[in-house]
Amino acid sequence: HEITREMIKAQAEKEHVHYIRLQFTDMLGIIKNVEVPKSQLDKVLDNKMMFDGSSIEGFVRIHESDMYLYPDLNTWKILTWEHPEDGSRVARLICDVYTTEGKPFAGDPRGNLRRVLATMEAAGFSAFNIGLEPEFYLFKRDEKGRPTLDFSDAGGYFDLSPVDGAEDCRREIVLELERLGFEVEASHHEVGPSQNEINFKYANALEACDNLQTFKLVVRNVAHKHGLKATFMAKPIAGIAGSGMHTNSSLFDLDGNNAFFDENGRHQLSDNAYHFIGGVLEHANAITAITNPTLNSYKRLVAGFEAPCYISYSTSNRSALIRIPASRGISTRVEVRSPDPMANPYLALAVILAAGLDGIKKQVDPGAPIAEDIFEMSYDERKALNIENLPSTITEALQHLRKDPVIREALGDHIYRKYMEAKYLEARDFRLEVHQWEIDRYLSMY
Ligand code: ADP
Ligand code: GLU
Ligand code: MG
Ligand code: MG
Repeated sequence: HEITREMIKAQAEKEHVHYIRLQFTDMLGIIKNVEVPKSQLDKVLDNKMMFDGSSIEGFVRIHESDMYLYPDLNTWKILTWEHPEDGSRVARLICDVYTTEGKPFAGDPRGNLRRVLATMEAAGFSAFNIGLEPEFYLFKRDEKGRPTLDFSDAGGYFDLSPVDGAEDCRREIVLELERLGFEVEASHHEVGPSQNEINFKYANALEACDNLQTFKLVVRNVAHKHGLKATFMAKPIAGIAGSGMHTNSSLFDLDGNNAFFDENGRHQLSDNAYHFIGGVLEHANAITAITNPTLNSYKRLVAGFEAPCYISYSTSNRSALIRIPASRGISTRVEVRSPDPMANPYLALAVILAAGLDGIKKQVDPGAPIAEDIFEMSYDERKALNIENLPSTITEALQHLRKDPVIREALGDHIYRKYMEAKYLEARDFRLEVHQWEIDRYLSMY
């Protein structure tokens, strides 16, 4: 779908769009936004909108702060859930960030993903197709509107009785997504009480990331309206299921066929599929620093909650890092199960793609799939099968990232340096605190 400048101007007129939100994503995956009135639309479409990059996480220092927003016209959407009091409408455009010299800014995660996608095209593929499965919790707010950890429903996996409007909230989220043009494939209650998952149709990597950012906005806004707090935090409560963001990935070839499918291949998978898996497994340690970006992320990657903690692949097993869902033909895909929804999607897909392409280039053999439940194996059994652990802390993952030139290159030097700096600071801040768990465990004992 190609949206033109004229189409945007005509629709803005017809639908009384008075406000335009210009959006982009910072290094930590947070959506940033500048709003302009309609009178500025021409200026926006001429790539003349300037902003101060020095106040954005992971961007630049004060003395080099002027940046430009170049809107991606294909992302034009009227935000159906926003209703200004003057009766007008609000639209958004997702933007790429450019320098004053008119070059893509190296610190822009979306621009960086475009750069890695160009290397994919050079390798002879037409698209990196991505279906994300973000999970989230809906908690109650207190009388002052502050978020709590109180469940919004008491439900287990099949519970139908709605409590406090959580089910109405889920339905309204789906409705809003459909109004925005999402093809919602399924919406279901997840394993944890108040935990939900809404699946929407896969798209090429750039669009899939834009969709995810929009999805999060919708979920948060609709939840807020229902007096609830939506959170994409990976492990909000100890002892119950964490929230993952399984990343279904496939490469399509220049004829638009799924390059992971081979009717005559082992399990009907192509050599490209096996090599892609080999590459992701080989770079899994460094990838984790991006796909599982916070201290909290590592509290999800533990045995017993359907989240992976070992580096392996399987044609069925949910304990593996990579699962190959049963569908074949156009839906043949590799499900990377480690990412969580705190990850910056643009960065996460850049590193997964770079790892897979590296595997294809070097023809990395992923070995045999592991069919057994790895959670049940002893250390010696895992050792015999060469199954390594995923990093267990962000610091460990960052150390792997430092040593992996392929994954560093997928981030580019600017993002790599800013990311390391921000994440080491975050880890240090955590270490400077003394937590309640330590007091409970050690104060009286020693
Ligand atoms: P699960 O079995 O893990 O619950 P779902 O069926 O919930 O998986 O989600 C599957 C996701 O995979 C959907 O987002 C779907 O659009 C996506 N998908 C389907 N075909 C492809 C493909 N060829 N490449 C990438 N993603 C795909
Ligand atoms: N919530 C699980 C996780 O943390 C995933 C459950 C599922 O397989 O959908 O990854
Ligand atoms: Mg799920
Ligand atoms: Mg899944």
